[in-house]
Amino acid sequence: MGVANSRSLAWSIGEYLSSSGAEVAFSYQNDKVRHRIEPLIALTNPAFVACCDVSRDDDIEKLFSTLENHWDHFDILIHAIAFANGDALAKPLVEINRRDFTSSLDISVYSLIAIAKHSERFMKNDGGSIVTLSYHGAQKVIPGYNIMGVVKAALESTVKYLANDLGPHHIRVNAISAGPVKTLASSAISMINEKLDLAEKHAPLRENITANDVAEFTGFLCGENSRRITGGIHYVDSGLNILGA
Ligand code: NAD
Repeated sequence: MGVANSRSLAWSIGEYLSSSGAEVAFSYQNDKVRHRIEPLIALTNPAFVACCDVSRDDDIEKLFSTLENHWDHFDILIHAIAFANGDALAKPLVEINRRDFTSSLDISVYSLIAIAKHSERFMKNDGGSIVTLSYHGAQKVIPGYNIMGVVKAALESTVKYLANDLGPHHIRVNAISAGPVKTLASSAISMINEKLDLAEKHAPLRENITANDVAEFTGFLCGENSRRITGGIHYVDSGLNILGA
């Protein structure tokens, strides 16, 4: 869930999982996105493609009924969705209004809970792996990240509670805290270019990550070799998170 174009982290993950032998399916936010991504996702020969605006309960219900027509179970769910209205994102947190606060948390965090709940019945016999994407702005104040910092903090906590709720069914829930990558969503964050420069100059590994780095680590989190790993927030950021100011 979360392909908007070829730069989307969800696309790199979907393409990687597909090339590793997984049968994949995609959901997209709306028709505008569908037109953009159709030729791209066709490359993976998806089992199905379905519209799902995660701010709408009926879309989430419809997604899982469509899914049920194709699969009686699935093993992997990728949640690569975040949203904050552009004006709200640009403002200091202290300026946020109730509506923007609520919609950011609804789309970026509640959606994970709702789709995890729906996934439970498809995953609970054989277990499964749910992966979402976070950013270090959840843990430290990062200039320009504003409301998304609060949203990602809630997302990281949600990962832990869901991991505990779903663990007895052998459903694992993890987040990857990715370093900056140029995508549609990250372009809306002020100073994204400065963040990329900073990572390249100062991260312990002195290089930016790629979407493929995230995809490969997601592959690990979805595979047998990570079978005892759940509830974690795993940094894929060239080590940037260990640095102080
Ligand atoms: P992106 O713009 O390609 O993906 C964001 C996706 O969210 C889009 O596909 C968009 O359609 C979807 N979305 C937004 N509102 C939605 C709604 N109501 N219903 C359904 N889908 C909706 O950008 P991305 O960078 O690939 O973002 C994917 C995830 O990775 C996000 O959670 C983002 O916060 C996270 N992340 C990105 C970076 C980065 O630097 N790019 C770093 C760390 C974490």
